[in-house]
This record gives sequence, C-alpha cells and structure tokens, in this order.
Amino acid sequence: MNPVFSGLPTTVFETMSRLAREHGAINLGQGFPDDPGPADMRAHGARALVEGSNQYPPMMGLPSLRAAVAAHYARHQGLALDPETEVMVTSGATEALAGALLALIAPGDEVVLFAPMYDAYLPLVLRAGGVPRIVTLTPPAFRLDEAALAAAFGPRTKVVLLNNPLNPSATLFGADDLAMLAAFCVRHNVIALCDEVWEHVVFDGARHRPLMALPGMRERTVKVGSAGKIFSLTGWKVGFVMAGPGLMRTLAKAHQFLTFTTPPNLQEAVAFGLAKEDSYFSDMRVGYARSRDRLADGLRHLGFTVLPAQATWFLNVDITELGQSGRVPADDVAFCEALVRDHRVAAIPVSAFYPDAAVRHLVRLCFAKADAPLDAALDRLSGVR
Ligand code: PMP
Ligand code: GLN
Repeated sequence: MNPVFSGLPTTVFETMSRLAREHGAINLGQGFPDDPGPADMRAHGARALVEGSNQYPPMMGLPSLRAAVAAHYARHQGLALDPETEVMVTSGATEALAGALLALIAPGDEVVLFAPMYDAYLPLVLRAGGVPRIVTLTPPAFRLDEAALAAAFGPRTKVVLLNNPLNPSATLFGADDLAMLAAFCVRHNVIALCDEVWEHVVFDGARHRPLMALPGMRERTVKVGSAGKIFSLTGWKVGFVMAGPGLMRTLAKAHQFLTFTTPPNLQEAVAFGLAKEDSYFSDMRVGYARSRDRLADGLRHLGFTVLPAQATWFLNVDITELGQSGRVPADDVAFCEALVRDHRVAAIPVSAFYPDAAVRHLVRLCFAKADAPLDAALDRLSGVR
C-alpha cells in the first residue's frame, strides 16, 4: 500500500456530511448548493441520455463541448484557445488536477503550493513524487508575499499550484498578486497549474483574471475549470483543462489512463450551458451574493466575527473570541464537532486546509443555500454565544 493514501483520514467534507446526517444538522459544511442547477441543462442532459449516444465519447471530449469551452473563455476571459489542441474534457476538476500533477511532475521535482489549500492537492503532489514547498497565506488578508515566494521558488521548482479564487478563504487574487506570481514563473521557468473552478463565482463587481492571460504565461499555464461550480451542478463532475498544445499532449497521456472519458450526455448538456447568455452568470452571482450577505449579516448580528468573502460559496468565521469565553472549544475541529452535535449546524474547520494545521481559529460555512435553511441555521447558531 502506498503510505500517502493509507495514512490519510477520510476527507473532511465526507466526514462532516456524515455527521450532519447523523445529527439531523443543517449542512453548511461540504460545498454544494441548494439550487438544483439550470432546468434547461438538466432537461438537455436527460434528453441526450435517452435519445443520444451512450458509448465512449472521444478521449479529449465531445467536439461540441471543446468548441463551447473555447468560445466560453474567449467571450468571458478574452482567451484564444484552439479547441482541437488546447482544450480537454475531464471528469471534474479533480481528475484534471490529478492528471496534470501526474503528467507534469517527475519524482524529486519541487511544487510550490499555497496554504490554505484544497485538501486533494498535497496527497496528489506527494503521490506523483513531488516535493512540496508550501507558502502559508495568513488570515484575514491571505495575500501573496514576495519574500515568501522568493523563499519557495528555486532551481528545482517545476510547478506552482494556484487556486484562484481561493477555497476556503474566499479570496480573489488581483492583478498585483498575479503579476508577482507570473514574474516568478517566468524567471524560474515554472509551469503554473491554475485551479480556477470558482472563476464565475465572484462578487461585488469584481472580475476574475485568468493567470494564463498574463504576459509570459500563455505557454506555461495549465488552466482548470469545472461545470460543477459554474452551473451549481457539483454531482456532474464535468471539468475542463486548457493548455498550450505541447503541454496538452502530455496531459492527455495521463487522462487516457485515468478516466479516458466522461459521460456524453453530461458533456452535451454542459456544452449547451456554456453558451448561456451573460445574464445567467450575472444573475447567479447576484443570487449567491444575496445569500452571502444574508448569512454574514445574520452572523454579525449574533456577534460572530465574519471575514470578507469576495468569491466562492463560502464565508469564514473567526472563533478566537468565542473560544476565549470558555463556553465553546477554541480549536476549530473541536468547535465544529460541538457545533454539529450540540447546535445541529455542520461547518468545516479551516485547519483541514493547512497541512500543518497551523490556523485553528477559522470555521468555513457554505452560504449557497435557500433562505429558509440559512435562517434556520442562524436560529440554531444563536445558541452558541
Ligand atoms: N478545486 C477546488 C478549489 C474546489 O473547491 C473543488 C470542489 N469544490 C474542486 C477543485 C473539485 O471540483 P470537481 O468537483 O469539479 O472535481
Ligand atoms: N469542494 C467542495 C468543498 O470545498 C467539496 C468537494 C468534496 O466533497 N469532495 O466543500
């Protein structure tokens, strides 16, 4: 057995969702929305399942979806991608990330990662034989820091893995952060693996910038997206990966032996969805921003310290002061265990996103829910203080 996996606990998302079920809790832990996703896309997918082909689609993805991905990113992010050579469909962003790390890393290569990080990253890097160089981002700002980057990048650095917008901190990295990172990538000849699954879920008029669009980055960026986040359809697990033709040839070699392909009806439905008019995307953002404000305002009213959330479906609560009262645990893991057991609200301890569990005073809550469960959760949380 490989120790990278045999030594791992079950992912915090699965664990907290199980506890939520056991305790009859409102699940604001694992990130999935109440929104069932666009009805027209679901109808399209159902029709394609009944009437369309159910045999292996092409390994790189349905041509209609690859064309739709290229057209989508040209329209929304100004990227010029060749659907034939620069776009590949994967079974979720997770497969894209796993395949990219397997394909890009040779044993001993150094990989720069930022903590907090999505919990899949480190095991995948380690299993690929990569040597992690972790840059810790400190709350509440979670900004990139030049000195920390200078200490992490070196002659053996092959890949930097950036998640922008960042789950769980809900940070959107701006032009300055990205320019700083791009300069390091160019100077050290490093490939940027950019997990941009939250690219459309940004609030308050802010705009996501793809790292790939920065000078010097077009040929050294692997961009990853996910229909799960764009369309609130997390169970579909349709992802896409975009890279220059040279990198893509190698990424495709990993993909061909991981999943090879992804259900054709879902691919067709996502191709249909990506062509939706701009109002779909702006309405989606307005809806989630409303839910964010409803939960954030409610929490502040109850006396919780809420961190800003510029993107994603998540906001973070600082439990330092609560913990000092002695009425609830000061440690985020113990706090979340008590929360789900005693108050029947599930949340995610942010230490799960720091490999050294260095940050233990933040708790992540998913606000992508209807008003009624958000209000019910606030009602239950009123008993915490
Ligand atoms: N990366 C990040 C940062 C995520 O938050 C998630 C899921 N929330 C994923 C990857 C996984 O995406 P998918 O479900 O498309 O595999
Ligand atoms: N990405 C989701 C989150 O951050 C969870 C995905 C999963 O459960 N594997 O909550």
